[in-house]
Amino acid sequence: MKVSATQKFNKKELIVFDLDGTLIRTKSPMTQEMSRLLGRLLSVKKVAIIGGGKYGVFGSLFLDHLQVSKQLLGNLFLFPTTATSFYRYQRGWKNVYAIELSAEQRDRIKKTFQRVFHEISYVHPKKTYGQLIEDRRTQVTFSVFGQDIVAVLGHKGVLMKEKWKREHTDTKMKITKLMAKYLPELEVRAAGFTSIDVTKKGIDKAYGLGQIEKHLHIRIGEMLFIGDAIYPGGNDYAVVRTGVDYIKVEGPEETKKIIRSLLTQK
Ligand SMILES: [Mg+2]
Repeated sequence: MKVSATQKFNKKELIVFDLDGTLIRTKSPMTQEMSRLLGRLLSVKKVAIIGGGKYGVFGSLFLDHLQVSKQLLGNLFLFPTTATSFYRYQRGWKNVYAIELSAEQRDRIKKTFQRVFHEISYVHPKKTYGQLIEDRRTQVTFSVFGQDIVAVLGHKGVLMKEKWKREHTDTKMKITKLMAKYLPELEVRAAGFTSIDVTKKGIDKAYGLGQIEKHLHIRIGEMLFIGDAIYPGGNDYAVVRTGVDYIKVEGPEETKKIIRSLLTQK
């Protein structure tokens, strides 16, 4: 259930963070300040991170900017692509499991995106950056401007995504609805600002918390979840039905405040 940031969480064993929009600005590298705060948090709590991005994105935006001792990395658990994969640190980052879509399913998803674009006469932006439909094996993701827009344009890319989201959310939801209609055996979800994820059925952040519970042997009641999209239609919303204690944040600045408050609690 929703809890106040000023409540005491010293009994919680695990803090679970969403990545994009919570620990980092969308598709942007983690700041030094966030790295320092997480380092301090890792010395007193276990931390899990669950996001829609693939492991490579966790690497380039998060791990590459995390400056903590190897010893503390043992307290950090990564669940990319909405916990369809799990990585833990054991003398290097090791993949524990990966639940992949079949080649046939991935192929069908890509074709269905094309079918839907055609059906609603959707026109891609004039200039795009990198792949529009990315096969992450555990997940196939469409992104309006392409996967690499923020890597190429930096902050300007973030602003373009925010602008598109403000102006075209109805288009995104239309594509999402049709995809779900044509792929009833799969899970289709609008995610982030400008992307749509397709995974196996039942893969969402509630599933993710279940995977974390199973693999880390920590009950949901011992977790605190922090995310930026805990509202109907948001990709963190599913956690609500698990009964986990959660705090909704507007973005990384608010997340930092919560971490500071966790660190001062005895
Ligand atoms: Mg998010």
